[in-house]
Amino acid sequence: QNTINKIAAGEVVERPSSVVKELVENAIDAGATAITVEIKEGGISFIRVTDNGSGINKDEIEIAFKRHATSKIESIEDLMAVSSLGFRGEALASIAAVSQVELITKTADSLSGVRYTIDGGVPGEVAEIGAPEGTTFIVRNLFYNTPVRRKFLKTATTEGGYIGSLVEYLALSHPDISFRFISNNQNKLHTSGNMNLKDIIYNVYGRDITNNLYEISGKSQDIEASGFIGKPMVVRGNRTYENYYINGRYIKSSIITKAIEDAYKGFIMPHNYPFSAIHFKINPAIIDVNVHPTKMELRFSNNEYIYNFVYDTCLKALNSKEL
Ligand code: ADP
Ligand code: MG
Repeated sequence: QNTINKIAAGEVVERPSSVVKELVENAIDAGATAITVEIKEGGISFIRVTDNGSGINKDEIEIAFKRHATSKIESIEDLMAVSSLGFRGEALASIAAVSQVELITKTADSLSGVRYTIDGGVPGEVAEIGAPEGTTFIVRNLFYNTPVRRKFLKTATTEGGYIGSLVEYLALSHPDISFRFISNNQNKLHTSGNMNLKDIIYNVYGRDITNNLYEISGKSQDIEASGFIGKPMVVRGNRTYENYYINGRYIKSSIITKAIEDAYKGFIMPHNYPFSAIHFKINPAIIDVNVHPTKMELRFSNNEYIYNFVYDTCLKALNSKEL
């Protein structure tokens, strides 16, 4: 069982940022309005995610670490129609198989909190402890028991950078949640949870980008878009500035990425990538979700319709007056 868990873990947990993604998505699913992500050494030795969400009941803790213990969704087809981010029920099992996990959690209707540890998939005890409402996960020494996978990690600085970008995406996708990101005891990001998208962009990316924004707004039968794009001094040599969300999820679609980048041709230098923060609402009925353990690829019943809508909407914004 442990071996199976360790192998399967590779599909969900590739690097420290994958751990942070799963823990934060769980916090969002638990209704948290404030989430703190704290890392040391790029998350390799230490990741702590604290939320003020629902907490986990004492008698559900051990089940939560079992594979396919999701309480959230019946079928993959439901995925686009539900608002919860978790659906496979394997994140906690996978994380716990390849690290040392400590969990402290308290629900609203229990008198005390609970502490639980699970080390390389080997469960420890469930003990009562004083704790505020919500959940804290600490993940230590990722891949300590799978040295080969550990060797594939990049430097702490690079791994920490991936986590920083991830928290940026998450903050942008949930303006209604307060995010805090601390790396090696330094505050890196703080959003208040009651900001609009433009305030968050300013908060996350600073003046350079905020001074160069164009508003995206478009609506068609099965798709809606809102948000901002920036040009042309606002570029990075990679796609980390290219944010978009589909029905509240941070998911990539090759069709949408291509449409955004094509719209930019003529506005930015070749080999540069634009800034974008766009929320798409797409009718689930026209989405076909193809799920691989780590990658989710969306297909649409009419790719050309989606491409044209995104391309036209972005081009219209880029040709409009700067904000
Ligand atoms: P999934 O998110 O796909 O359901 P996970 O392995 O990520 O699977 O989590 C397993 C279960 O643990 C969740 O379904 C949820 O019930 C519980 N859980 C995990 N993290 C939290 C959290 N931060 N707050 C409340 N419940 C949580
Ligand atoms: Mg999950």
